[in-house]
Amino acid sequence: MLASLRAAPTLCLSKRRYRNGFCCRASTLQSNANGDRNSTNNNGKNKKKIVVVGSGWAGLGAAHHLSKQGFDVTVLDDGNGFGSPDDISMQGFWYPFRNIFSLVDELGIKPFTGWMKSAQYSEEGLEVEFPIFQDLNQLPTPLGTLFYTQFSRLPLVDRLTSLPLMAAVIDFDNTDVAWRKYDSITARELFKQFGCSERLYRNVIGPLVQVGLFAPAEQCSAAATLGVLYFIILAHQKNFDLVWCRGTLREKIFEPWMDSMRTRGCEFLDGRRVTDFIYDEERCCISDVVCGKETYSAGAVVLAVGISTLQELIKNSILCNREEFLKVLNLASIDVVSVKLWFDKKVTVPNVSNACSGFGDSLAWTFFDLNKIYDEHKDDSATVIQADFYHANELMPLKDDQVVAKAVSYLSKCIKDFSTATVMDHKIRRFPKSLTHFFPGSLL
Ligand SMILES: Cc1cc2nc3c(=O)[nH]c(=O)nc-3n(C[C@H](O)[C@H](O)[C@H](O)COP(=O)(O)OP(=O)(O)OC[C@H]3O[C@@H](n4cnc5c(N)ncnc54)[C@H](O)[C@@H]3O)c2cc1C
Repeated sequence: MLASLRAAPTLCLSKRRYRNGFCCRASTLQSNANGDRNSTNNNGKNKKKIVVVGSGWAGLGAAHHLSKQGFDVTVLDDGNGFGSPDDISMQGFWYPFRNIFSLVDELGIKPFTGWMKSAQYSEEGLEVEFPIFQDLNQLPTPLGTLFYTQFSRLPLVDRLTSLPLMAAVIDFDNTDVAWRKYDSITARELFKQFGCSERLYRNVIGPLVQVGLFAPAEQCSAAATLGVLYFIILAHQKNFDLVWCRGTLREKIFEPWMDSMRTRGCEFLDGRRVTDFIYDEERCCISDVVCGKETYSAGAVVLAVGISTLQELIKNSILCNREEFLKVLNLASIDVVSVKLWFDKKVTVPNVSNACSGFGDSLAWTFFDLNKIYDEHKDDSATVIQADFYHANELMPLKDDQVVAKAVSYLSKCIKDFSTATVMDHKIRRFPKSLTHFFPGSLL
């Protein structure tokens, strides 16, 4: 979630309580941890100070562009998020992520695997194998997707019921009007209205939506669903192709990226949990960002944190006095549980990345063969798997051993050999309310 707050050019810390009820706590704080709201560069020119809150993709992306435009950027992060050393965060990079591919070229780094095939499993077993679409003759959309995708068990007649959906994809042109039209219905209703067969929905399209938007299709906005379907599947045949980061994002991309920004004067401060803001009533804008007992003066502030964090910030800070921020409290987020398993022997996993569903309607999950993705596991003698469970409300309260048992039983239904392998080690991470829920009606 990105939000930008316009701020005043000078600091105003003299009053404790403003007329409109905003509370200025600056007098009790150690102020100006990063000096004035403007700084002077080598040429003697004034640079506006920008404070970016959060150092995930959104925060680093903002810092990248702002520091290139000559702003004096400070990035504050609490050190607990996806950017942390053992981040999970984004793993697959689809063909249309051109901005990220240009970025790594610009940095001169090679963090990705080659293009890799993926698969999809239902409770009945392997459903679909996706080839590397760019290696095949390019056909007009959606023919390439339909023709080249290998369906293991779905009859042709069911596959053909996906064609009428193209009318909705064409009608959904990403404008405000289109979003309003389709945001009021669920993805489930959309598929029904456009004639998708029950089997196509249950075993293929429903699970794809659940993995892409992290919630069951009954709980997803049809507008968000059409947006995702168009972006990664239908705009171009090769858009569904994926590469993977060969280690943690922190190590492979974020660290070299931050180093390059440091050369432009960008400052990164970890362990800084933003708790409040100071409002300059005379200029009607934010003047400082508060982290516990420290303040950071800012000419402008970019909030690049997830929805649940933003909601907490709004509830506990001066932002709750602003209508536009109160609306954010209507949004919702989703739990994720990430499970890394070290097995005692080699299990052959035919495809590197796999989307799965059908083991309980509310849960979708993915699993990855880390021996083929991560440099550090390439030469391991045994299999290392990461399984991520979205909309994982039911897994959140379970003990680690219970989560491992469930994960292994699900994996075994996809690939039988996991049932005879023993888990030697595991790492379970729970991320409550960490992903955006695109529920119907969330376009406020
Ligand atoms: C398991 C999983 C798999 C995923 N796979 C993919 C994928 O394959 N492809 C894809 O495109 N996307 C994927 N995503 C989604 C992707 O990870 C997110 O869209 C992306 O990480 C969001 O980035 P962000 O910068 O907005 O937020 P975040 O990455 O959440 O960054 C927010 C930052 O703010 C910091 N922060 C929080 N509170 C405060 C505070 N009070 N003060 C200061 N700092 C604070 C946090 O520590 C964090 O570093 C996946 C997500 C998950 C959970």
